[in-house]
Amino acid sequence: MSDAEESDFGISRDRKTRIVATLGPASSGLDEIRALFQAGVDVFRLNMSHGDHADKVQLFKNIRAVEAETERPIAILADLQGPKLRVGTFKDGKVELKQGEDFTLDLSTEPGTDKRVGLPHKEIFAAIQEGTHILLDDGKIRLNVEEFTSTTARCKVVVGGMLSDRKGVNVPNAVLPLAALTPKDRKDLTFALKEGADWIALSFVQRAADVAEARKLVGGKAAIMAKIEKPAAVTSLDEILELADGVMVARGDLGVEEPVENVPGIQKYIIAKAREAGKPVVVATQMLESMINSPVPTRAEVSDVATAVMDGADAVMLSAESAVGEYPIEAVAVMNRVAIKIEGEPTYFANRKDDNISMNDTTAEAITAAARQVSGSIGAKAIVTFTTSGSTALRAARERPSAPILTLTPQMSIARRLSIVWGLHTVKTKDINTFEDMIGKSKRMAMRQGLAGPGDRIVVTAGVPFGTPGATNVLHIAWISGNELK
Ligand code: PGA
Ligand code: MN
Repeated sequence: MSDAEESDFGISRDRKTRIVATLGPASSGLDEIRALFQAGVDVFRLNMSHGDHADKVQLFKNIRAVEAETERPIAILADLQGPKLRVGTFKDGKVELKQGEDFTLDLSTEPGTDKRVGLPHKEIFAAIQEGTHILLDDGKIRLNVEEFTSTTARCKVVVGGMLSDRKGVNVPNAVLPLAALTPKDRKDLTFALKEGADWIALSFVQRAADVAEARKLVGGKAAIMAKIEKPAAVTSLDEILELADGVMVARGDLGVEEPVENVPGIQKYIIAKAREAGKPVVVATQMLESMINSPVPTRAEVSDVATAVMDGADAVMLSAESAVGEYPIEAVAVMNRVAIKIEGEPTYFANRKDDNISMNDTTAEAITAAARQVSGSIGAKAIVTFTTSGSTALRAARERPSAPILTLTPQMSIARRLSIVWGLHTVKTKDINTFEDMIGKSKRMAMRQGLAGPGDRIVVTAGVPFGTPGATNVLHIAWISGNELK
């Protein structure tokens, strides 16, 4: 690919933080997806809660067409709906619940009234107790359980409001005996894997076992992202991080299940923990909410994106802004500009070094840490890593070096997965067999990708002898003469 083509597409992202954009009616055509990519999107999210499989097939095709045109690996994140709880329907479509009155939830399929409604999830009745809070319609309505059996719960309305058919239900303080994946999730998962999704996001993860269950079904065909949106998941974050490949700070439901003022602290906690684990973390929901209808963000929204970037998140995400909003491209452009600006602040890399990461004393980690130090002190233009499973690249990203990390991998699936990770510029290459091969390829790729030119130095890390996964034990400084491409 020529340099001109690269700059046309803005391919060498001048930014470490990645951008995830949800596709929907506002952004499903080939031209729209191409424009979103050019504006800065690294990962496209398909929300399996909406639309049908036929529409999604077209999205997969369009994304892969843009990937082929631009020759840049793009990740597709299929977000499963998960065990989302909903009330049944009402005789008249909706009712008003008044504060202080009684309202009963039960397992009956009879249409609801202002006295009762069906709640077709027997697991809830098995897990509630007297005093359990039940939230309806994104937490707008609050109920308190006063009396219950295995099929009914008589509640007091603590905060009232209008309740209509099939509104969502949250039970924040209970770990519900629900399966991690519903029958719909299983169908959606089979479909997404068949179409070639790179990441599968699991909604309403409650415990590490939920991730383990999904991992069995996914069978290594995609990476798994656990959405942290339940208090129980925050409590089990360490175990979840061990089993998942990445996590999402899913602030929408998290802000219903937790008091909203708890969310910023939890966000910082999740980012720090994911960084320590060396796994990517995405900050999601309402980042630029007002841009659904406005071409410019509020100052508070800019500050919110800036905070996620400043805290070292791997990626920031757009939901309704890009899926159904009027200004999807503008929203991506705002994220792009904010990330570049914040990453250029003098405190940005200083903060990264201060992040409290506890290194394991392995050779691989020592070499990776050294690569950051050496690249900084000699002003190397890139750190080059070879990776087959992706783990070497993740280790390099965890160090948060200021030089770009050029990741070379023979696996297209790994290249795609890694596009959600902080600071990686991944290129699919042929396998290499010798040390000389590797140094030559590193220099040529750094030049071709526009990261380095004649007279520049790059830092290459590798495992010698070749073919031992994860055995990074060599750090080499290479000087580019400019004759490499001739
Ligand atoms: P959702 O997840 O958009 O699928 O609900 C994200 C969130 O809850 O923040
Ligand atoms: Mn959610």
